[in-house]
Amino acid sequence: MHINDAVFLEDLCPKFRLRQWRKSIHRFTGKSCIYCGKPSESIDHVLPRSQGGLSTTENCVPACLSCNGDKSDENALYWYRRQKFYDPRRAMAIRAWLEGDLRLAIRLLQWATPNFKVNNKNYEKNKSKYKAA
Ligand SMILES: [Zn+2]
Repeated sequence: MHINDAVFLEDLCPKFRLRQWRKSIHRFTGKSCIYCGKPSESIDHVLPRSQGGLSTTENCVPACLSCNGDKSDENALYWYRRQKFYDPRRAMAIRAWLEGDLRLAIRLLQWATPNFKVNNKNYEKNKSKYKAA
């Protein structure tokens, strides 16, 4: 009964749900741009909305304003390959993200970014290491 109430509330407040969803996207990468690693300030539609791209987690990645603006309506993977900061591990992460495999995407991003900070609790696995010290 309570669960149904919660769903109903969310339906009444789509703006609240959208805000939570956007926050969760940024949290996946520790608030860093999936393309260049700078602080993410926006959500980029990998397949642009103008080409029928949906606002789903699989199609939306955290991006800095510079990457988001520069990429514009281009295919993200083609655009990314031409960038100076191109990193094949990040390209693989983007691909995994698009396929909905966020776990793999985040692992690849961690590999590409040595000081990667993960804010999402589901992915905090190294805590026990600090406890043992
Ligand atoms: Zn960027």
